[in-house]
Amino acid sequence: MTTGTSDKKRKRIGQVRCQNCFERFSPQKGVDRTSCPECGWEWYISWSGELAKIRKPVWDSWEEHIAETRKKTK
Ligand SMILES: [Zn+2]
Repeated sequence: MTTGTSDKKRKRIGQVRCQNCFERFSPQKGVDRTSCPECGWEWYISWSGELAKIRKPVWDSWEEHIAETRKKTK
């Protein structure tokens, strides 16, 4: 019987690893963005079934900042 091993595997389902501080955490199911409980960095999440994946950081504020800097240098 392999019920024990599949149970262990299940625990990691839905978990992502912060690409900033490498902390593992479980975002709320179905959310499209979440923030790391450890460092507070925000991430976009994509789901394939039960499996959560970090897509990219939420750069909104950064992009604004960069755009403003560009304006100044031009
Ligand atoms: Zn983090």
